[in-house]
Amino acid sequence: MTVRTRFAPSPTGFLHIGGARTALYNWLYAKRHGGTFLLRVEDTDADRSTAESMEIILDGLRWLGLDWDEGPGVGGPFGPYFQSERIEIYDRYLARLESAGLVYEDEGAIRFRVPDKVITVSDSVCGDVSINLKEAGSRRYDADLKREVEANPDIVIKRPNGGYIFHFVNVVDDIEMQITHVIRGEDHLSNTPKHLALFEAFGATPPQFAHIPLNLNPSGTKMSKRDQGALIHEYQEAGFLPSGVNNYMALLGWSAKDDQEIFTMEELKAKFDLSGVNSSNSKFDFDKCRWVNGEHLKRLSTEDFVALAVPFLSKAGIDPADPRVPEALGLARDRVQTLGEIPGIIGTVFSSSVSYDETSVAKVKEKGDLVNVIAALVDVLSVASDWTVDGIKAAVSEGAATIGVKMGAMMLPCRVATMGSTAGADLVPVLVLLGKETTLSRLRGFQELLSA
Ligand code: GLU
Repeated sequence: MTVRTRFAPSPTGFLHIGGARTALYNWLYAKRHGGTFLLRVEDTDADRSTAESMEIILDGLRWLGLDWDEGPGVGGPFGPYFQSERIEIYDRYLARLESAGLVYEDEGAIRFRVPDKVITVSDSVCGDVSINLKEAGSRRYDADLKREVEANPDIVIKRPNGGYIFHFVNVVDDIEMQITHVIRGEDHLSNTPKHLALFEAFGATPPQFAHIPLNLNPSGTKMSKRDQGALIHEYQEAGFLPSGVNNYMALLGWSAKDDQEIFTMEELKAKFDLSGVNSSNSKFDFDKCRWVNGEHLKRLSTEDFVALAVPFLSKAGIDPADPRVPEALGLARDRVQTLGEIPGIIGTVFSSSVSYDETSVAKVKEKGDLVNVIAALVDVLSVASDWTVDGIKAAVSEGAATIGVKMGAMMLPCRVATMGSTAGADLVPVLVLLGKETTLSRLRGFQELLSA
């Protein structure tokens, strides 16, 4: 059997991390088993579906590198891959249910008669879930009356306005597209008995189901598009790497047997399996996501890191062609978790003036005799002839000895005076890049600031 998985988004205008994770798991599962991953657009809800909202999802998948073997833009033997273009197929399937006497009209809608028997979903992640749809659906709780009332358990599969309902088109397409494994969010687990009843009505073998746990936000509720880290395009804009985001999404609900946490896409393809998917909900942790991405940045070759940093430099007004860029990027590399953080670390090297962080200035003012320290720095650095890391260190150490303080007591004031903040890249290499003249003019500028 050739594995065939699918991602079946409804175009909602954004690619949410939960949806992207579902796409990733389907993609990985297909890759791992030498199968086919297809993309099907569930756009029967015409009000919400627009071409632009679909493009956002497709762009997100493309950025993540989750390419599809069949689907929009690629084609394939089971198209069209937009449900809105498959109405004839649905009409044909409905006719089959009609001739089998399995559907009837009810106030303009079409209902499918659910069987009066126990249906068991044997889920690869959640285990067995059994229900008798007829029994369970015959009564429902009425919130107004505050008691149970009789209900019609039969499923509406076509609306009075002629539109087909999700359950029906989802099953028809999974049959038609020969899907072997349905990996989707646990919010669909309760729909699956209905889907199994439809598969049986069509005499079709159902796919294997795997419902993956929900992804909760840090406060323990279902993650919404407003939560930090919810939308894939935001990762792209912030300078995450697709491999880092995929790696983190893989860990949201799945773990490798040996607790490995950092994976290349190749490793994920080789190791991902449904047996490692947790049955409990996962909790989104943005710091962990950033950490994973930082690890991916560290593993890039220097050339790739520089090339990927270019758009983020340009956006921050730093000329990527500046000869100091490669050296400066080397200083930023181990300190950033996203490419978007680079300008914040090394921007000072390229700016014409220092912008002083008030808290940092207050911090160095608290300590010792700042005026003397800065004066000593100006004295020794203005006569330093060797403007290298070693030469600068030797000069600063000489200045420290002259005024009787430790080397460390010189460094923080020097950092704040020349870089504006206690944070950032290593001080001395930054001074090398700034050059002697700029370093001294910044120290003198800081002197003026102190005496003002
Ligand atoms: N369109 C459905 C959704 O976005 C797909 C469910 C499924 O994967 O079967 O939730």
